[in-house]
Amino acid sequence: MAVLVIAEHDNNILKTSTLNTITAATKLSDDIHLLILGKDIETLSNNAKTIHPIKKILKCDNSKLENFIPELSAPIISHIANGYSHILAPASTFGKNLLPRVSALLDVTQISDVIEIKSENTFVRPIYAGNAISHVETNQNINLLTIRPTSFEKCEETGGSASSEDVQFIDNDVKTIFIGREVSKSDRPELGNARIVVSGGRGMENSENFNLLYDLADKLNAAVGASRAAVDAGYIGNEYQVGQTGKMVAPELYIAVGISGAIQHLAGMKESKVIVAINKDTEAPIFNIADYGLSSDLFQAIPEIIKELNLLNKLES
Ligand SMILES: Cc1cc2nc3c(=O)[nH]c(=O)nc-3n(C[C@H](O)[C@H](O)[C@H](O)COP(=O)(O)OP(=O)(O)OC[C@H]3O[C@@H](n4cnc5c(N)ncnc54)[C@H](O)[C@@H]3O)c2cc1C
Repeated sequence: MAVLVIAEHDNNILKTSTLNTITAATKLSDDIHLLILGKDIETLSNNAKTIHPIKKILKCDNSKLENFIPELSAPIISHIANGYSHILAPASTFGKNLLPRVSALLDVTQISDVIEIKSENTFVRPIYAGNAISHVETNQNINLLTIRPTSFEKCEETGGSASSEDVQFIDNDVKTIFIGREVSKSDRPELGNARIVVSGGRGMENSENFNLLYDLADKLNAAVGASRAAVDAGYIGNEYQVGQTGKMVAPELYIAVGISGAIQHLAGMKESKVIVAINKDTEAPIFNIADYGLSSDLFQAIPEIIKELNLLNKLES
């Protein structure tokens, strides 16, 4: 049977999380359909046709779908759900907002934050902030899964030639309306997609000191992240929080600066390929998962690293 992936996008391009979710779908079926709900999505849909594993693009183009309102999207999905054995969405804010509503409409149990697909009805997911791994077996006719993007590689974006079909917009009397969006603008890479992430914790002491990390991040073309303690203290905005209740990241390199390594923080970054920890407390738990640890005062270490990087840049140019 076919598997449906719900696309996360901004009406122009697909988010990387969609490409990771498509890879997860390939473990379930060769017949993968991609549902794109949005406004003026012709170009986006045409571009998506080349995504290798996708056999069919389903699109619903409607001005009311310009801004993502899950109450509007969920009935459209539940209306077409019967043709599918599995419906997948990224375990991002988008998917976490949408899929429970579809699950309620279909009266099936959702399986959240899947990190591995064992078979068509057996899925692996972390519980207790990643301290235990649960294997979930279901016998439902339709399985609704949110997929942890960092656990699956991106799928091939070329080589495919999917067909395309329009899906009916269901104009329910939805009371939710879109009022506005405040997006933080940054020239740095997006936290969820960056190859390198430099994160700061309570050890940074204040927001001004975060400038040290911005400097380091700019030298490395990295995104900046933070622990919840740093966010709660107001050193940096909460969109930068990494962890169980923040963003999940799995970059090539994660540099944790002045972060102790609480399990809730590790839940969001421990799948990073290489972890570097800078902390003055040699007993800090972050050192247990770090590939490289520097036991040092960050206010000494970071300027020295920046100095070395400047030197390296000069030698290279
Ligand atoms: C339900 C729940 C959800 C949570 N979700 C998240 C989450 O998503 N993300 C998250 O991060 N946390 C989360 N937390 C909070 C978490 O438990 C920790 O409190 C938090 O991660 C601690 O942040 P920290 O490591 O920056 O601070 P601390 O634990 O206070 O550690 C600061 C570290 O900085 C070091 N340090 C201090 N000064 C210096 C210096 N000059 N040089 C070098 N090192 C220095 C210290 O040695 C220390 O190890 C959650 C908690 C709960 C209960």
